[in-house]
Formats: sequence, C-alpha cells, structure tokens
Amino acid sequence: MAVREILTVPDPILKKVSKPVDSVDEDIRSLMDDMLDSMYAADGIGLAAIQIGIPKRVIVMDLDWGKGERNPRYFVNPILSDPSDNKLPYEEGCLSVPEYFDEVERPDRIQIDYLDYDGKSKTETVEGMFAVCIQHEMDHLEGVLFIDYLSRLKRQRAVQKVKKLVKQREQDDEA
Ligand code: ZN
Repeated sequence: MAVREILTVPDPILKKVSKPVDSVDEDIRSLMDDMLDSMYAADGIGLAAIQIGIPKRVIVMDLDWGKGERNPRYFVNPILSDPSDNKLPYEEGCLSVPEYFDEVERPDRIQIDYLDYDGKSKTETVEGMFAVCIQHEMDHLEGVLFIDYLSRLKRQRAVQKVKKLVKQREQDDEA
C-alpha cells in the first residue's frame, strides 16, 4: 500500500473519461488499496482513480472517516440509475480542488450497480450524503468536477485559489 500524489486543478488529466475495468484482479485491488491510503492521508471521504492519474472506473469512499472508525467502500465500474426527483443542496469539496467548498444540488437518492473489492456484482440504493458523494465521484469518471456546476467566475476563482495554494505548499516544502 502506498500514498500517491493527488492531482489538482487545472491538471488536464482530471478532464479525461475513465475506462471500464476488465476484471477485479490483484492489480485493481492494489490500486484500490493505494487509493484508500491516499484518500485517508489527505483527509478525504471519496477518491476516484483518475485523481491519482489512473483513468480506470474505480472509486473508493469512507463516509465514517473522521468519526474515528474506518468503513471503506469500493466501487468498480459503477453505474447510477433511478435518481430521485428530490434534490439536496450540499456543500461539496474535492481533494483535487483543495480548500474550496461550494454548494451543488443533486438527487438525494440513487441506485448504484457495481463490482465490489472481490469482484462481486452488487446493487444498492443510497440516500443523503452517500448519494451525494457517489454522484460526485462518478462525475470524476466522466472528467467532470463539482466546480463545473458553478458559474464561470466562481470556477475561475476556485482554480486560481488552488494554483496559489499548490505554489505555497511547494515553497513550504523547499523551505
Ligand atoms: Zn472530487
């Protein structure tokens, strides 16, 4: 297991569309382990493979992270369907847009079909924060970021803020 570097905006790799995984083998499981380590190290609750530069349809999540317990979830080749009409506004953040938060509205209930860590096929209906988080991560697989739902002005401001932050972090590392 290893902590890998998480790409930040405006890295063009984040705009790539990720490809389906053929089978959940040792390589994919090792990728999921690295993703989880990287996500925990960055204090996040969700991560898509493309955020560490791997264009595969793989997502890890842990909504209990921060509550002092670990409850990792793995989604390979996820497909979302049957979204609720009811939408929930939620203040979102993203490890690829660090320290920037803004409100996005999404359906508050949705069905997920996916393969789990062992490659088993699963179907689940999720609500609330789980529904919001899986939709946010699914967007990454299509090259879409939550800031893409905001006005152009807000999006530009977010990217500028991240660029400044990344530069500052690099300078701090050198010092
Ligand atoms: Zn994200």
